[in-house]
Amino acid sequence: MKLLTNTMFTWLIVIIFLVALFYLYNTQKEESYTYHGDDAPIPAELHPIVEEKKRQLIDLASSRNIQLVITEEIRSFERQNALYEQGRTKRGNIVTNSKAGESYHNYGLAFDYALKNENGDIIWDIHYDGNHNGEADWFEVADIAKQLGFDWGGDWANHKDYPHLQMTFGLSVDMLEEGYRP
Ligand SMILES: [Zn+2]
Repeated sequence: MKLLTNTMFTWLIVIIFLVALFYLYNTQKEESYTYHGDDAPIPAELHPIVEEKKRQLIDLASSRNIQLVITEEIRSFERQNALYEQGRTKRGNIVTNSKAGESYHNYGLAFDYALKNENGDIIWDIHYDGNHNGEADWFEVADIAKQLGFDWGGDWANHKDYPHLQMTFGLSVDMLEEGYRP
């Protein structure tokens, strides 16, 4: 009888621990969005939190002597479609696999970055080490961005998008198209 009680007590502790862990996990991953209907307005600028984190990223990069350039922020549906046609029905290289409404850029939740070198030129050289600390500046920026909560396109398994940073708020592009907004 004593043994059984001890076993039950141990199980109780284990269950309490698991419940606490589950609760902690869910509050950490809290997703914050609401449904605005299928005619939900399309944002005209970066989401305020994304804008704020972008500022922080620029400042933190600057404190490491990295000059960050934001090359693209919100992208209209028209521009998204024009980019999609590039390399398909129009001249040029394919630059995106997303049509209008299929990119986080279209909802103000993504932006693209590049670097400025010592001459002030905008560069897309991911190996450039302008602050001479033995680490590529491009990846330093990506690391800071990830600490700020961004997803980085350079981490994607297929179709890597090194300049791309986005914040999803737990929303898929399908959900954004349906009218969910952060
Ligand atoms: Zn992008």
